[in-house]
Formats: sequence, structure tokens, C-alpha cells
Amino acid sequence: MKQEYLERLKGLYPNLYLNLVSIDCRDGWYPLIERLSAKLEAELIALPKVFRDYHAAQVKQKFGTLRFYMYRYPSDEFKQHIVDAEEESATICEFCGASAVLHSSGRWEVICDLCALKRAARYGQVRNRLEALIKYKTHLSEEEWEQLMKETGQHDSKTRF
Ligand SMILES: [Zn+2]
Repeated sequence: MKQEYLERLKGLYPNLYLNLVSIDCRDGWYPLIERLSAKLEAELIALPKVFRDYHAAQVKQKFGTLRFYMYRYPSDEFKQHIVDAEEESATICEFCGASAVLHSSGRWEVICDLCALKRAARYGQVRNRLEALIKYKTHLSEEEWEQLMKETGQHDSKTRF
């Protein structure tokens, strides 16, 4: 995840993210992590100050879904917020935040159809890229198509299909 997102989280939720140096998942889960963080920080702030020594230890993607580890957990409710968010991550595209399902072919990941097509269009084998581009085009407005062409360098005649 972009470092600026972590910096934003550290600013908003200073108790929770006191020691964390990175979040090892893609940007599509930022809103989910932010919602979770707001709940957790509120629970931490409600604790007596001497008991506030609970911090996020590791936040990452594992086997396709979110994992959010604390050094320790102040309560079962606190842990339940985390379990709920981890489960919800199986329905949110890790790349863009759209609705998606957990795929297990090749690697575990939560990716929406458009992001999968976009990735295939950008990085797949040439034949797959053409197929993906053709399929992808039917999902897009003219503007979105132009944007993708720009992003994937298709305006550059050297790489035009
Ligand atoms: Zn997506």
C-alpha cells in the first residue's frame, strides 16, 4: 500500500499505528482498513491511559485476504472488529475497492473482473492481452477506454497492437 496511506492512518489513529512501518497489501483495501482503524482507535482511546499499550503489529494480505495482527488484544469485541474486516476483505477487490470474489486459481487473491482484465491487457501473453483488451473494451465508456490506452502505453505507436 502507498506509504502516504500509512502516513494518513498514523495521523488519524496514532495509538493504533504507533510502531507500524508498512502495510503489505494493495490500495483497494484502504477504505476497509480505515473503517476498521476508526473502530479500533475508538476502543483504544476508551481504555484508561495506562492500558493503552495495544498497537498494530502487522497488516498484510495472506492467502488472498486481509490479516490484521496486534501485539495483543484488549478485548473480544476488539478482536471481533478485526475478524469482521478480514472476512469483508474477501468481497472487496484488493486493487480498486470494487465488489469482487476470492479467486484461488494460480494464487489466492480478491480481484474484480475489470482489474483482472486490465492486468491481463497490460501484462499477459500477447494473445491473452489482445483477448483481454477486446473483452475489456465492452465494459468501458469511450473515455475509460482512452484512459486505459494511455495507462498501458497504447497511444505509443511502438507498442500499439
Ligand atoms: Zn478491481
